[in-house]
Amino acid sequence: MNRKTKIKIWIDEAGRGPWCGPVVACALAWNSNNKPNPEFIAMMNDSKKLSWKKREELYDKLIQFSQDKSIFFWVWVVDNYVIDDINIRQANKEAMRRAIVEIRRKIPKELSEISVVIDGRDNYIFDELDEAPLYIVWWDGKVSEIGAASIIAKVFRDKLMQQYATLYPHLWLETNAWYGTKKHKQALKRKNDITGIHRTSYKPIKEVLEKKEKVLVHICCGPDATVPLMDLKKDYEVIAFWYDPNIQPKAEHDKRFKAFVKVCEIEGVEYIEWEYDVKNFFKQIKWLEHTPERGEKCTVCYDMRLERTARLAREMWIKKWTSSLNNSPHKDMEKMFDLWEKWDKQIDQNNKNKSNDLEFLKIAFRKNGGFQRSVDYTNKHNIFRQNYCGCVYSDTFPGREKKWIKKWLSG
Ligand code: SF4
Repeated sequence: MNRKTKIKIWIDEAGRGPWCGPVVACALAWNSNNKPNPEFIAMMNDSKKLSWKKREELYDKLIQFSQDKSIFFWVWVVDNYVIDDINIRQANKEAMRRAIVEIRRKIPKELSEISVVIDGRDNYIFDELDEAPLYIVWWDGKVSEIGAASIIAKVFRDKLMQQYATLYPHLWLETNAWYGTKKHKQALKRKNDITGIHRTSYKPIKEVLEKKEKVLVHICCGPDATVPLMDLKKDYEVIAFWYDPNIQPKAEHDKRFKAFVKVCEIEGVEYIEWEYDVKNFFKQIKWLEHTPERGEKCTVCYDMRLERTARLAREMWIKKWTSSLNNSPHKDMEKMFDLWEKWDKQIDQNNKNKSNDLEFLKIAFRKNGGFQRSVDYTNKHNIFRQNYCGCVYSDTFPGREKKWIKKWLSG
């Protein structure tokens, strides 16, 4: 054996593009004293140009040739956690560096004067090498060694992904490499869809992780919208919901609605307006009209608004919901918490898809200075603040109830 034979190590990688799994580098050299037969060498090609079946056949053959030392190769795998830590370019360099270090151990000392050729344009410098590698682009179909390295890297990675497929059957890893197709995007809607092998530093994955969960918030007036919207939007994508047919007269209702819209606009929150079904309100509180404020009629009044909110949350597939009603010091907070719980259970009884059970957010918005914050906010932004609860039976309703009721019920 020629002691001065210089041996070329050829390197290619697989798995830079996919949104999950490792990057794999293969360093490979033909043994110049014992090469595989020329017919086999002629079959080497860019792994992407070969069928799955053909790649696997050639891979098996390459393994056999390595066993009788016709070729030397080493594979190094850098997982998705390292990719996220140091970025894909550096992770790829690390995979190649370790493959070079390890293949040198396999090559007999008399062949150890090596030079390295890499398929790619990254121009990495490796401290372990005396001379810089030569970089070539798109040669994996033209140079047999690069073709062989690309086949080994690709099939080795595919086999790893097939193992992961048993852990994550919903990712179809056994048949594709997650290069970020439309189908993959559709499979990533919620944080729970992200698995332990996804590359969380990749933009599409990051976007899903940073996406806030939705919450539907029933709002009863402008001032009481302030603290819930400000606080909830820190952690959620908030949708404000207006359904308050308990407010009379209509002009007062519209004034409060305008104040609500103003707060939504200041806070940049989307909102939904529901119909002003005032007749339904009077129907619901029938025979309870003259019960005291915070008494039975008010329970019915909270309940009809909370029920509508819970039903809408279910219809919109929004799991979390809550209300601004408890921001007001004039409302009975514990009573509302009980009602919320009731609607969570009642609506979920008919829900076959238990993965999306309703969950009310039991937050006492008015506590910890919440009420004062809402007062400061309304002063600062000149938000309309009402001076009675809402209906004509409110303790401090300024008009004559009978006149209004007659008007609405006949209208
Ligand atoms: S007093 Fe207020 S809470 Fe009670 S029924 Fe009237 S509008 Fe509703």
